[in-house]
Amino acid sequence: MVDAFEYPRSPHVRRHGPDGYTTYESYRPWLRDEFCFRCVLCLHRERWPTTSEYEVDHLIPVSERQDLSCRYTNLLYVCRRCNNLKADLRIPDPCSIAYGNCLRVNDDGTIESLNEKGRVLVRTLRLDRADRVRQRRMIIEILIDAQETGNTRRLRDWLGFPEDLDNLRKLHPPTNHRLEGIGESWFSRRERCELPETY
Ligand SMILES: [Zn+2]
Repeated sequence: MVDAFEYPRSPHVRRHGPDGYTTYESYRPWLRDEFCFRCVLCLHRERWPTTSEYEVDHLIPVSERQDLSCRYTNLLYVCRRCNNLKADLRIPDPCSIAYGNCLRVNDDGTIESLNEKGRVLVRTLRLDRADRVRQRRMIIEILIDAQETGNTRRLRDWLGFPEDLDNLRKLHPPTNHRLEGIGESWFSRRERCELPETY
């Protein structure tokens, strides 16, 4: 089964390279595809009822580096809760280090820091707060139950892709350093019938 709370074992490698937009919100569909419709910090997914809005976060805050406000490599796709908690604080870049080496989520929803960077993430994003633990536990229990009872529809509901995938081919950033990434986007994969049922 897909482990919904297993952090990546290697740093994220960006496959898109849009550049030149004058508002950071313009990068949202690229980031959404890039980070696979989930908060890169807490792993909550768009399709889960436990989170509401998703936002574009500045890894290095604008208060420190205004010049990086519209730099794609400084932008992350995160849930509102994480964005509010991170605010102007600095956290490790998921494109530089593997969060999977820093954090481990147990089946009861608790989270462990595996090193100092993990402790920074937990402390900054309050990943060990009781409501966070409870939500993770609830989701894990739903997934385990769905797997044990062979409820594939429920698994697809909770682990599948959203219906509204962005067609990045229709977007025209002033420049794009990684045009080939469009062919690897989830929309393009669905067109080729290569979209997995779950992720
Ligand atoms: Zn989050």
